[in-house]
Amino acid sequence: MKKIILISLTILLNISVFAQDSDWFYATMARLDARELKEDIPGEIDILTEKGYEAVVFMSPSAAELLHDRILVHGPGYIFKSSYDEAISSINKTITTTSSRMAFTITEDEKVSEVLELMNVQNIEDHILELENYGTRYHNLAQGTQAAIDLKAKWEAMAAFYGRTDVSVRLYNHNNTPMPSVIMTITGAQFPDEFVIVGGHLDSTSNQGNNDAPGADDDASGIATITEAVRTLFEADFFPQRTIEIMAYAAEEIGLVGSGEIAQEYSSNNVNISAYVQFDMTNYNGSANDVYLITDFTNSSLNGFLMQLIDHYNASGAHQFTYGTSLCNYGCSDHASWYNEGYMAAFPFEASFGQHNPNIHTANDTFSISGTADHALKFAKLCVEFLVETAKHDGLVGITEVSEELYEIYTLNNTLYYNFDTYVESIDSIVIYDIGGRAIIAVDDTKNEGSITLTHLSSGIYIVNVQTTNSEVVNKKIMIE
Ligand SMILES: [Zn+2]
Repeated sequence: MKKIILISLTILLNISVFAQDSDWFYATMARLDARELKEDIPGEIDILTEKGYEAVVFMSPSAAELLHDRILVHGPGYIFKSSYDEAISSINKTITTTSSRMAFTITEDEKVSEVLELMNVQNIEDHILELENYGTRYHNLAQGTQAAIDLKAKWEAMAAFYGRTDVSVRLYNHNNTPMPSVIMTITGAQFPDEFVIVGGHLDSTSNQGNNDAPGADDDASGIATITEAVRTLFEADFFPQRTIEIMAYAAEEIGLVGSGEIAQEYSSNNVNISAYVQFDMTNYNGSANDVYLITDFTNSSLNGFLMQLIDHYNASGAHQFTYGTSLCNYGCSDHASWYNEGYMAAFPFEASFGQHNPNIHTANDTFSISGTADHALKFAKLCVEFLVETAKHDGLVGITEVSEELYEIYTLNNTLYYNFDTYVESIDSIVIYDIGGRAIIAVDDTKNEGSITLTHLSSGIYIVNVQTTNSEVVNKKIMIE
């Protein structure tokens, strides 16, 4: 089991008081859940400290199992911590989302439309069945590790089939689970150090015994979804300008262990991640709408961007689907690992709160419950829309020269002022690009006169790009001192 290194008196005290069993471990969870468990099974959990809505606990595997089965939506409901100190520092940490340097824009209609036509629902079905056929992918069973080794080979073969030399796949070995995670990297051509990441978890669990945990919806569906999304990007010869990573995590079901270790490493290496999107359970159509954006432990601006993508690409026609919003819970899936490290994260989910697949974490979580991968296909579409629009070169498009006498754009005291009152067209949007072509600020504005605060921009040259409702474009260079 885990080696607990006794480095402080606090830990010594905790161990001496609570070391009932070497399988006990530290975790953080919602305070109310911790108190409820303590009341129901007092011998299985100790609440060590509480702060705000969170608690640090030391608990037995059976307490973890009870919590896992009890929480309302899905996921473990707690976040594993490898030591008391790590647990304490995590609840004392203030999460500040480092606002991405990237402004989200939608410009790639042509490429996205091309990719959407290449989607093959049969590939998603086949992949879900392939993963279901391991019988179980529980993190400490041989099948879990085998599934990771095989997925690496599958992703490598896929990249090779499309002749992609910009792609590499690696196993990521963990400290707190024998199962590795799998990471595919598609190196960005222009901004290789800027990342957009999508992921899901490869492991499965069952409350009826982990030797029988097919995990078709939870979460073979998510892995199959992101795999088909990437395959279509390859088929369409999409070469990202930012680096794309696709992750299949180990040991989500025991407290977000795989994603937690990876997100911590990326964070401590200051990896610049523009946005993260989680795909966990995509193939059970249980609610009135199709995609539910989870609004807790996610970022509202990224959720807003995913809604804009659906409004833009999926409002009507062959690729039409709808969305709503819902809540998940504490530690409900791997997006929380990234969110907790200050990264922008989102989690589009298969159904609304409580209407998700009722068979998860049982032997009945099989593909036959859905019988088709039609629902997962909608998530694969959202995944490619997200990846194409975020990994692109933002660029400046469709320039039509407009006489400067017709408008005013200038900066004063770190504020951009604009006035198009004498210009015939109305303004549709204003985007400010840095000199490297990254969109930094994007505002939808129908007013013809106004201002934008620029205080958070570092000094340098920027391009103000104004689009009119008549699709004319005005570009003006500005200088920030
Ligand atoms: Zn899951």
